[in-house]
Amino acid sequence: MVGTEGRTDKKALPIDGGGLGRGDASGNTPPYVEDHPHPASPIKGEGQLWEVLKRVPDPEVPAVSIVDLGIVRDVTPDRVVLTPTYTGCPATQVIETMVRIALDEAGFEGVRIETTLSPPWTTDWITDEGRKKLRAYGIAPPVPTGSRAVECPQCGSAQTEEVSRFGSTPCKALWRCRDCLEPFDHFKCH
Ligand SMILES: [Zn+2]
Repeated sequence: MVGTEGRTDKKALPIDGGGLGRGDASGNTPPYVEDHPHPASPIKGEGQLWEVLKRVPDPEVPAVSIVDLGIVRDVTPDRVVLTPTYTGCPATQVIETMVRIALDEAGFEGVRIETTLSPPWTTDWITDEGRKKLRAYGIAPPVPTGSRAVECPQCGSAQTEEVSRFGSTPCKALWRCRDCLEPFDHFKCH
């Protein structure tokens, strides 16, 4: 009975013979499955709004944006909240107009602009980036309330004095450095 051992290959047959491919044979596509991919719809959200606002310069100091100055207080998909640097500032109307134009040009015609005076704008809202830009522009950034030292934007000296309450614009005062004798604008604390 040697031949019985040779029948092992017979066991393998049913395994190989399994017709696995048969289930795939149907050519039916369920009617509810849609073929086309989702179009990459641009999301006009807060991120894009911030980008638009970052390109709006401050009318008095074009080197800094209204975002740098902390004038933009809040952004939601349908509204932008601005707080003017101070109530009497003539730049306020200009800023609102500039924001309106920038929003419209970017396709945000439906976004409304709100102005809030409370809490009042403070120089503490100027970003670090904004302070750097002011300094690079030759304007002494505002100093925190309580601190009196206004540093010269040219040489960094704290030996400075106010020459006039009114600088090149109502929001700036004219100062002078006692060390390098350079006059400079100082962004006033309101
Ligand atoms: Zn100086």
